[in-house]
Amino acid sequence: MTPPSGQENGKLLDVRDLTVHFPVRSGLLQRVTGQVKAVDGVSFALERGETLGLVGESGCGKSTTARAVLRLIPVTAGSVRFRGEDLLAMEGETLRKARSGFQMVFQDPYASLNPRMTVAEIVGEPLFNTGAAKSRSDRDERVATILPQVGLDASCLRRYPFEFSGGQRQRIGIARALVVSPDLVVLDEPVSALDVSVQAQVINLLAELRERLRLTYLFVAHDLSVVKHISDRVAVMYLGRIVELASRDDLFDAPMHPYTVSLLSAVPVPDPRNKSKRIVLSGDVPSPLNPPSGCHFHPRCPKAMDICSREDPPPIQGSGAHEASCWLYAQQNRHPIQKE
Ligand code: SF4
Repeated sequence: MTPPSGQENGKLLDVRDLTVHFPVRSGLLQRVTGQVKAVDGVSFALERGETLGLVGESGCGKSTTARAVLRLIPVTAGSVRFRGEDLLAMEGETLRKARSGFQMVFQDPYASLNPRMTVAEIVGEPLFNTGAAKSRSDRDERVATILPQVGLDASCLRRYPFEFSGGQRQRIGIARALVVSPDLVVLDEPVSALDVSVQAQVINLLAELRERLRLTYLFVAHDLSVVKHISDRVAVMYLGRIVELASRDDLFDAPMHPYTVSLLSAVPVPDPRNKSKRIVLSGDVPSPLNPPSGCHFHPRCPKAMDICSREDPPPIQGSGAHEASCWLYAQQNRHPIQKE
């Protein structure tokens, strides 16, 4: 897979202030009475060939962010540039062709594969959607080439999803994403529906494919231990916002944000003697329909101060490219990050 000229290095994806609000309607006339702030000003960039893990609890907006980046749901505000081009401005045939550059692997390999379609039809669907195949024989040839790359036999073209195990079905989902030779693959909780014994196999396959095909991943997960094995950098989301972004090692070795610290305290470690005390957060994640003022995390934060409920914390630069949005660091005279 050869990158287009001039795109060998540098940003493949650049997301700025991405915002996704869903209107809430009620009453006889279905008037808009509120907004669910699912994604609330999210910014990150992906270098070609790297993997960014996007983690957080259920309902934090990570999957909505992934879908919005790929234009699978409407975006309220912000910008998404892919290979330097404005993805949100693309329409019709331009967008259809651009889709061969980015694909998605969905969470549930049981629900995401149509049980009435054969492997050839499922995996080959993006070839027709993007105009990369013109005939069934053309499609079958491309599908038969991609199946062995994900560990499936090329002879299973005419078989149906029910004939495969969960892990094999997810390999079919991965083949469907890769068949159009994308640069960017967004993986939305790709192993969370699989048995633990199969999860490692699929993660290893994804890591191997990334190296061999020079892929770039946005890896969405709620499980930090899954993200640790495959990510170069990790972004932690809470209630629609990225609260911390750092290299994998910096995030796991020296987390800055109290929410990240609590998430890490729940991750199992091989040697229990090295385990830090588990921090159990009080309460549930608040509703994105009515998020708390100031720092959204303040009602659950063990370090909350007066200012936390009044004002949004600015993003603060830690060491290197480590950044976190928390008043603890703003009060230590660390430097707020200037927006471009
Ligand atoms: Fe906790 Fe305040 Fe930091 Fe938010 S800004 S994480 S409430 S200390």
